Amino acid sequence: MASPDVQARPWIDTNEFTRTGQRISGRCPLALLARMSDMLTDDDGYVDWSLEGERSRRADGGFDAHLALAFSGAVRMRCVRCLEPVEITIEDRRHFKLVVTESVAEREDAQTDDFDLLVTSPHFEVLDLLEDEAIMALPLAPAHGTCARPGETAERPGGAGVGIDPDEAAQGERPNPFAVLAALKKPRPPGDGEN
Ligand SMILES: [Zn+2]
Repeated sequence: MASPDVQARPWIDTNEFTRTGQRISGRCPLALLARMSDMLTDDDGYVDWSLEGERSRRADGGFDAHLALAFSGAVRMRCVRCLEPVEITIEDRRHFKLVVTESVAEREDAQTDDFDLLVTSPHFEVLDLLEDEAIMALPLAPAHGTCARPGETAERPGGAGVGIDPDEAAQGERPNPFAVLAALKKPRPPGDGEN
C-alpha cells in the first residue's frame, strides 16, 4: 500500500480519514504551490506539513469530524522598503470542522467562531488547503528589520538598525487593519496630549 507521504499530490477521503483518526505528513516543494510562489521572489524551498483527522461524539449521538493542519517553512518575499528578498518564516496550526454541503457551511459559518468549516469530500486535495493557509500566513508588508541597500545604510542618521532586532522584524510585520482602526477610535482623555 502506497504511503500518502510519498504522493506528489496527496489526497484523502475526509470521512474515512477522520473516522479512523489518521495522520499524514509531507514536505511540499514551493514549486508545487504555484499561487503562493507568485507572491514570492523564488520557489526554492519547502513547506513541511501534517494533517490529522478525528471525530468527536455530539450530544445528539452523531459525530463531528475535524481536521487539524500544521505547517512550517521558510520563504522569501520582496521587501516593501528596499525591494530585495527578505526571508520569512511561516508557521501555523489550523483546525477545521467538516460539514456535508456548501449550504451547511454557509449556515454554520455565522454560528461558529471556533473552527473554520470545510466541505467533506471523497477526494480532498491536501495541498490546496495547505496553500490557502500558507498564503494567509504570509505578511502583508514583508520588510527587513534593517534594509541593507548599498550606498544608503551608511548615510542613515543614527546608523543602521538602532533599536531593531533584524531577526525579529524579519519574521514579518503584519499590520492588523482592525487594530489600527481601534487605535484611531480610542477616545483620548480630555487635556491629555499623547497616550
Ligand atoms: Zn529591505
